[in-house]
Amino acid sequence: MACSVIKCPLCEVTTMESCPFCAIVNKQLPAELIYEDEYCVAFKDIRPQAPVHVLVVPKVHVACADDVSDPQLWGRLMSAVKTVASQLGVAGAYRIVVNCGESAGQTVPHLHIHLLAGRGLQWPPG
Ligand code: AMP
Ligand code: ZN
Repeated sequence: MACSVIKCPLCEVTTMESCPFCAIVNKQLPAELIYEDEYCVAFKDIRPQAPVHVLVVPKVHVACADDVSDPQLWGRLMSAVKTVASQLGVAGAYRIVVNCGESAGQTVPHLHIHLLAGRGLQWPPG
């Protein structure tokens, strides 16, 4: 799987041992897990940008949004977002963000959806 958006070292390797989010999925790296199903996990962002800041990530390693080959994965992720928002009491009052590529702010090359809530959120975003 090649990542065309950012220079992604993970695209060059067959294992994802160096990916922090794969490590969280595999319980090799601690995280504040708040949701898990067959397809994805959700955990608290280590540097929260809002009172609620959760990352929803697929269990499979996909480097970025452009690399999603199965569109059903988006449905699984969005279903998890909805469940987590409800679980955290922020249904109807949250923002989701997917940074795709370094220039858009992606720093971890494992697809993730940011779920932000609990404060006023400006538009347009920075
Ligand atoms: P992005 O900049 O869109 O790639 O988002 C990556 C996010 O992952 C940032 O908000 C980081 O604070 C967060 N992050 C990085 N490492 C960890 C980790 N080990 N546990 C939880 N969140 C993390
Ligand atoms: Zn990964």
